[in-house]
Amino acid sequence: MDALKLENIRKSFGQVEVLKGIDLEVADGEFVVFVGPSGCGKSTLLRIIAGLEDATAGDVAIGGVRVNTVPPAKRGIAMVFQTYALYPHLSVRDNMGLGLKQSGAPAAEIARRIEIASTMLSLEPYLARRPAELSGGQRQRVAIGRAVVREPKLFLFDEPLSNLDAALRVNTRLEIAQLHKRLSATMIYVTHDQVEAMTLADRIVVLNAGRVEQIGAPMELYNNPANEFVAGFIGSPK
Ligand code: ADP
Ligand code: MG
Repeated sequence: MDALKLENIRKSFGQVEVLKGIDLEVADGEFVVFVGPSGCGKSTLLRIIAGLEDATAGDVAIGGVRVNTVPPAKRGIAMVFQTYALYPHLSVRDNMGLGLKQSGAPAAEIARRIEIASTMLSLEPYLARRPAELSGGQRQRVAIGRAVVREPKLFLFDEPLSNLDAALRVNTRLEIAQLHKRLSATMIYVTHDQVEAMTLADRIVVLNAGRVEQIGAPMELYNNPANEFVAGFIGSPK
């Protein structure tokens, strides 16, 4: 059974069609990266998978279940945003635990999961702090930790490293790769950065203007690009 299956996903905003029929099957435990230029529809596609946006047409199935009408909180997904989206008035601990608390998890279970996630992400020293007292990299680790404690079937990352400086980008990227190994979780990761795509992905989905140009393993795309666009995009890292 596929962890994620997209069938003919279309999305229009008014007269403008930004997704023009996307098909994709993601296996359990796979790390799939959506890559493509700014404005090609990556975030829109991720938001449709998360249930934050409705597709104009097509089907989304998560773990074999069609979720078109299932609200985000019931999809078994957790999303990490470029802007962290933490609550400024809550401590790191409460930011990480809020989703679980809202879904009615017992306090002891929430504490147990926060302990595991904060160890994994080296966040133990910061649990009592507010987001404003943390660096950008630490904030993004909190946002990742908040996703981890929910034990989602599917992780969704939307350009999670874009707001970090170069050194932190490398560190955080390695942490995400390590997390993927440890959790054997299925991850969908959006970026416009070729290096991130090449180093993180089991498979890369190259998007361009709302269509899939090519899907394949990084070296497959690198060695056998389907067309000039893929060759230009994967072949010329920034
Ligand atoms: P990417 O994440 O690849 O940069 P997006 O998915 O954010 O691209 O956007 C794809 C296209 O859809 C862009 O042209 C963008 O302006 C448009 N778009 C995204 N969200 C909306 C919206 N809520 N209303 C109108 N247009 C939108
Ligand atoms: Mg985007």
